[in-house]
Amino acid sequence: MKLRATHDQSVIDQWSAKIAAHDRRTGRVQTVLFAALFACFISMFVWPKLPLFIATSILFACALVSQLIEKEALTCPHCGRSPVTGRASPRSADFCAHCFYWLISPYEQVDRSEG
Ligand SMILES: [Zn+2]
Repeated sequence: MKLRATHDQSVIDQWSAKIAAHDRRTGRVQTVLFAALFACFISMFVWPKLPLFIATSILFACALVSQLIEKEALTCPHCGRSPVTGRASPRSADFCAHCFYWLISPYEQVDRSEG
């Protein structure tokens, strides 16, 4: 197993551009979707009726699909595969689990925690 990730500024730049482009396309839709899902889920305890249960189920399915789409869209700029394994969100990745290229600069993270 490779223990050191490779630092390539062009990969880091491409990754942040990919996230920004994805957010521009789906960010607002996802926010509304998750807010509606949360509202329906809470309402189910207050007013446990079948239509509300169906609405919650449909919204949950949509949220699941949007997560799958995000995983397909946010691939590593270096190897083209999803940078995470399992069910984790690609957004949580600091480096690609397949080619070990940094996706977020480790030096910027140090700067942020100090500043
Ligand atoms: Zn990769």
